[in-house]
Amino acid sequence: MSDWLIDVLMTTQAGREKAFRRLAKSKFRSRFHLSADDRQYIAEKGMETIRRHCEDFVAKRLAPAEPEKDGAQTPMRGHPVFKAQHACACCCRGCLEKWYRVKKGRELSPEAQKKIVDLLMAWIEREYSSRT
Ligand SMILES: [Zn+2]
Repeated sequence: MSDWLIDVLMTTQAGREKAFRRLAKSKFRSRFHLSADDRQYIAEKGMETIRRHCEDFVAKRLAPAEPEKDGAQTPMRGHPVFKAQHACACCCRGCLEKWYRVKKGRELSPEAQKKIVDLLMAWIEREYSSRT
């Protein structure tokens, strides 16, 4: 049950809303938003492609037991998924552990990866459909 916060905050729409309310209390997390360039990129690529990029980033940069450059593997800008990762505290294994109690030093299961991707994509879709 060590990943229980993932189950609570990433599995259902209601859980994700709870996660967003929690993240909104963080000044650092809540300052991330999609830029005009991010929106343009999403409009050109489409959400399905963004989801594939998201799956790829999570699998390669977050899922390994010892990710390369852990703590500094997610740029602050340059891709909508990077913004989502910072906004959702899924940027590195340290933040994942602090916010979701996902233990470091252990590879993320495909199920855990999918939950993280679902949360990140929910954040992107929500931002994308808002006007700000
Ligand atoms: Zn981090």
